[in-house]
Amino acid sequence: MSMFKRMTDKLGHLQVSSPKPHTNLLATGGTASATPASPSSSYASTANTNAYPYAQDYGAYQRESISTEYTSLSGYGNNSNIPKPVPGSASFPVASGGGGVPAQRDWSNREESMYAEDSIPAKFLPLRPKGSYRLSDFIMQRTLGTGSFGRVHLARSKHNLRFYAIKVMSKDKIVRTKQVSHTRNEQRMLCAVQHPFIINLWGTFQDSTNLYMVMDFVPGGELFTLLRRSNRFPDPVAKFYAAEVALALNYLHSLDIIYRDLKPENILLNFDGHIKIADFGFARWCETTVWTLCGTPDYLAPEIIGNARYNKSVDWYALGVLTFEMLSGLPPFHEPDISPVKLYEKITVGPTCIKWPDFHPNAKDIILKLMAADPSKRYGNLRHGAGDVFAHRWFSEVDWDKLRNREIQAPYLPRINGDGDASAFERYPEIDASIHYGGFGPDPYGDQFPDFEYAAL
Ligand code: AMP
Repeated sequence: MSMFKRMTDKLGHLQVSSPKPHTNLLATGGTASATPASPSSSYASTANTNAYPYAQDYGAYQRESISTEYTSLSGYGNNSNIPKPVPGSASFPVASGGGGVPAQRDWSNREESMYAEDSIPAKFLPLRPKGSYRLSDFIMQRTLGTGSFGRVHLARSKHNLRFYAIKVMSKDKIVRTKQVSHTRNEQRMLCAVQHPFIINLWGTFQDSTNLYMVMDFVPGGELFTLLRRSNRFPDPVAKFYAAEVALALNYLHSLDIIYRDLKPENILLNFDGHIKIADFGFARWCETTVWTLCGTPDYLAPEIIGNARYNKSVDWYALGVLTFEMLSGLPPFHEPDISPVKLYEKITVGPTCIKWPDFHPNAKDIILKLMAADPSKRYGNLRHGAGDVFAHRWFSEVDWDKLRNREIQAPYLPRINGDGDASAFERYPEIDASIHYGGFGPDPYGDQFPDFEYAAL
């Protein structure tokens, strides 16, 4: 069995919903000749049907975040393709270039144990006092998005009448899929960070069935939606978002936090068009290296696929993928109906197997430097760290201080009709919050999430 086949068996398969027949303009060497929707066009416009048919079809393609731990629950979520783990399953040979990594690793054991509370550096103690909340403080409204363990709701505070986003996660699902440490990490990391381009967490609580995270509502929707509607971004637009992401990554890395799930779906747009990175489900403290396999297939760095230990540089690799996807409308290694095995093979081969659209040479150069297969040669991971990224000539016109202070006008201004307008978000089948949330029955997992305050009736 090939290394990639084994990896796929471990990870399950990419989630492709209703694949449609389509032509891959990139793979056939064609260029997108039609004019993409202009950046100044309506944010709420429908897809430009003249341009980039492949990118539109790709809109039907759902990308799930994955981690090896998910494989431990057959039929987890709506992913019926994920195979049951085979106890004591075969070791997975490490790819070359792992940099002093043992040659064999057992993927079935590739889980992160939650580091002991007292081993978390003091800087991870919450920066600001978190509020104490309970479900009865809010009126739960429509669904904004769904995640691996539940959904995110628009919610209105009964006290100040402001709108928030509340992420609700099923404790049962988290425990059954062995994501307790990731969930606790998400809470700890979000408590520790405060940055203009990162989602703001106000507080967390739990009841007998669910965990709740109270965040600022970010009304502009996902960058993913904007990108699919625009088909692709002009160079200056992609540069703007890439630059804001670079600032956020640099901030996280300065706190020794690795993010590990960069993709347009996790980048939200605020009312002013600036980004807010959401979903810290895979973020964790990382001073040196880690090795849990997690992320989203299109965005996995080759060393993750190669089962090597890896460091924060996987986030810089993902920025390279994101930049490519913003400029072309597609992630670099994608092709119609690609199998996971083939995708992982292509990622391992690296940028030489990419059919490059007509990018600005500086854009191509920074993508290649961020996607360097060897982490020791990757931009962001060299002697000057993020400084090399900031100083790259593609970013030469960026005033980083002004950007950090949100003094640069964003290229798209979401159309928002007042507070609580969630029209930028897709619609999801709703559930009755009064039935599903707020349980105070027996709780087998009560002690597993000590950082989530128990909200008494
Ligand atoms: P997550 O499980 O954190 O990835 O969240 C799932 C989806 O919910 C995201 O992709 C967003 O569409 C939406 N979402 C998450 N957090 C927020 C927020 N603070 N404001 C608005 N929408 C959000």
